[in-house]
Amino acid sequence: MNLILFGPPAAGKGTQAKRLVSERGFIQLSTGDMLRAARTSGSELGDRVAGIMDAGTLVSDEIVIELIEEQLDLNKDAPGFIFDGFPRTVGQAEALDTCLKNRGGAVDLVIRLVVDEEKLLARITKRFEEEGRKDDNPESFAHRLDQYNANTAPLLPIYADQGKLVEVDGMGAIEAVSAEIDTALKEA
Ligand code: AMP
Repeated sequence: MNLILFGPPAAGKGTQAKRLVSERGFIQLSTGDMLRAARTSGSELGDRVAGIMDAGTLVSDEIVIELIEEQLDLNKDAPGFIFDGFPRTVGQAEALDTCLKNRGGAVDLVIRLVVDEEKLLARITKRFEEEGRKDDNPESFAHRLDQYNANTAPLLPIYADQGKLVEVDGMGAIEAVSAEIDTALKEA
């Protein structure tokens, strides 16, 4: 199962991905987490992306595609992958198709978590207070939303045309969102 969890920042992708990891043994491939780990480790890549991330701008397609390919190869026997925060551009989506095809697979399902912007802002304000993630400050967050709307939302009609897109109401309680996602997985 190759599942893309799709949605703007703070839509709940990470929460759902972690649940599917613990319940189904899927591997979560979050490019945001990978980039944050690179920063924490003090690697050259981490230094290179730090300013870009804190401003809420996208890092280059080449960087994230390489990170994803590495993880696909390291986890060949995984029962499934959850792509979280990837792909974020048409170029990344095309690269993902190629990566999976080369490994005998394809994107099976795209679940879009639908949450209105007011609610996202409320969630992000809370997360900023609790976790202090630099790119959750109001200015960077506004930029991240713009980037989502400009670069990432255009992927939705592409996956819809392929018959792979399922929309889930991400505004409700975590249990309700989980139940909708489980139904989509069962029907995929
Ligand atoms: P996230 O945790 O997914 O919100 O990602 C945090 C930041 O990492 C983003 O604002 C981007 O700067 C960078 N990032 C994560 N994933 C990607 C991606 N697929 N393409 C480009 N930049 C990314």
